Amino acid sequence: MVVKDEELPYLRRCVELATEALEAGDEPFGSVLVGGDGAVLAEDHNRVASGDRTRHPEFELARWSAAHLTPEERAAATVYTSGEHCPMCAAAHAWVGLGRIVYVASSAQLVQWLGQLGVPAAPVRALPVREVAPDVVVEGPVPELAEEVHALHRRFHRQ
Ligand SMILES: [Zn+2]
Repeated sequence: MVVKDEELPYLRRCVELATEALEAGDEPFGSVLVGGDGAVLAEDHNRVASGDRTRHPEFELARWSAAHLTPEERAAATVYTSGEHCPMCAAAHAWVGLGRIVYVASSAQLVQWLGQLGVPAAPVRALPVREVAPDVVVEGPVPELAEEVHALHRRFHRQ
């Protein structure tokens, strides 16, 4: 684990965004794109309640970065996220050449939590980012925040 203390605010913001998604009736996921200088460039949360199940925040941030950042800026950027990228988002992240990923909860944790809540399996296998995008530096999980994310998923699926 190489997540530095000064990075925790970005991860806390991801949990806040996930909470906003939950309160808007969406699945609780949130992500923040941070430049190489530490500035927050963009953020988003899940928007799949619209009916478009590709509206994951990490996918939106990959597209935003392709539209607004140079290749060098993308490579220097970090995506912080409440839950590890799914294979779709990991692929988008790698295709646009973004840098590091730091997640609070792993896909393996999420699969376990959702299984315990009786949620049907997703149509896409929960491969770890490393299997989809082997050159991307990935860090997580972050135990000090993972229980908060777990609680958000419990709230969402008990509604
Ligand atoms: Zn995704």
